[in-house]
Amino acid sequence: MKKRYDLIIIGGGVTGCALAWYFSHYDFEIALLEKEMDVCCGVSKANTGIFHSRSYWTPDTLKGELHLRSLSWFPRAKKELDLPVRECGALTVALSAADIGHLREVKARGRCPEAEIMGPIEARKREPNLNKNLKAAYYDPGTVVVSPFQLVCSLAECAALNGVEFHFDQHVRGFDQTSKYIRVLTPENNWEAAFVITAAGLFSSEIARYSRDKISDIRPCRGEYFVLDRDCDGFVNRVLYPAPRERSKGILVCPTPEGNVLAGPNFEPLDRFDSSTTYFGLEEVEKGAHRLTPHIPLHKNIRNFSGLRPTLPDRDFHIFFSNTYPNLLHLVGIESPGLTAAFGIAEYVGEKLHNKGLTLREKNDFRFRKAFPVFREADWKTREALIREDPDWGEIICRCEEVTVAEVKHALRTPPGASTLDGLKRRIRTTAGRCQGSFCLMSIPRLMSEIGNVPYGNMYKEGRKSPLFAGETREECSRSEYAEKGSC
Ligand SMILES: Cc1cc2nc3c(=O)[nH]c(=O)nc-3n(C[C@H](O)[C@H](O)[C@H](O)COP(=O)(O)OP(=O)(O)OC[C@H]3O[C@@H](n4cnc5c(N)ncnc54)[C@H](O)[C@@H]3O)c2cc1C
Repeated sequence: MKKRYDLIIIGGGVTGCALAWYFSHYDFEIALLEKEMDVCCGVSKANTGIFHSRSYWTPDTLKGELHLRSLSWFPRAKKELDLPVRECGALTVALSAADIGHLREVKARGRCPEAEIMGPIEARKREPNLNKNLKAAYYDPGTVVVSPFQLVCSLAECAALNGVEFHFDQHVRGFDQTSKYIRVLTPENNWEAAFVITAAGLFSSEIARYSRDKISDIRPCRGEYFVLDRDCDGFVNRVLYPAPRERSKGILVCPTPEGNVLAGPNFEPLDRFDSSTTYFGLEEVEKGAHRLTPHIPLHKNIRNFSGLRPTLPDRDFHIFFSNTYPNLLHLVGIESPGLTAAFGIAEYVGEKLHNKGLTLREKNDFRFRKAFPVFREADWKTREALIREDPDWGEIICRCEEVTVAEVKHALRTPPGASTLDGLKRRIRTTAGRCQGSFCLMSIPRLMSEIGNVPYGNMYKEGRKSPLFAGETREECSRSEYAEKGSC
């Protein structure tokens, strides 16, 4: 295995993968090191997935500047990544006379010519399930919703396609300096690079301290959610924000690109990294969602989850070179809107490294990613053609999301391929539907073993701490044997 690169990126969340994608446009050797078994295992897997429009930027902050920069990158990224998005727009809802002042502030901040403040009748024409008692709403067509899973995985896929190496199970524990390179230390390997970037989310302060750089502790702020079944698609067609609060954008109701509806998140500062969902947190979310849409069908909830915002006391991003290792750049406090700002962060970091001497020579053979077909979304004619081409398209293993064996194969084999149950979920939505895996879990381990060559004893839900099997009870049986006998 090669261990020396021009650039090493630490962390495979949206920030690290956006950096990998951005730098893969240029002619040098890059590795991304991630402590988990896959990309998108940290903050980036549990958020709302809103690509916030300029109405929601925060003036006089670095995160605001990078948010705005990122917006102009979005069309290019969408094209290069072949990324499915829901360009739905948003309504920010005033439920009191005082809230109307907030709407005016948001409008003035956004300076978006197509955005407008409208009265209750017009707002309810657009969103009939809005609270009847609303006083006004601010409509902004610029808000876009993405699947955070799809965004991170497609960034990683495109970066891999363009030569970036992904190394998992690489927990960075320290740094060292050789005469020319920074040495990155993991328990079993020493890696070297001319430039190193850390993008470690909740652990970003900790990793900065490995290089003896001083920065405040990350304070996790939890946000909890309800995920409603896909048959609620259409209950809301736009993101519904409450009038903005000081600490966060408030509890909102939001459609997803896949057709689920999300309600959340609340904002709860914690003194530990605890991503459990709680009775009180969900009760708060329920109240917030009911204020916007009193009839929201929360009984159609298929899952709850929570995410932790990696916040610093000043609530801003901190991007700075190490005092100990001059070519080591730390990214700390990448909280909301980190997903939106990811492309802007990548461009900004590119400029910083360029000013430090990294030559950015653009490749002339950069390859765009082409999304694999999604059987669930295909019409009957396309489905027939796919099955004729490869019978694996005719074998559905997840009934809720209609995922086929062909899609599982692609997700396991396309670098950086899935190696866990959740890795498959993030790429192709197995276990993400109404039954939450009751059906597809019967076939996935066999497919992971046969197609992905993952031994049963080495199968995990999320990471090394969540093995799928406790031990062997009887001999394993192959797919063909199973089909022949009907049982094993
Ligand atoms: C509740 C909630 C809602 C949000 N909603 C939105 C939204 O709608 N829109 C938006 O723009 N933003 C939103 N955000 C913010 C956004 O999710 C984050 O800013 C973003 O995901 C941060 O990504 P990251 O890559 O920096 O961190 P992560 O995704 O946490 O990635 C860091 C990675 O580094 C790895 N790592 C850590 N330490 C080490 C180590 N020592 N060695 C190797 N690897 C390591 C971790 O395993 C992890 O994979 C939300 C956040 C939360 C919590």
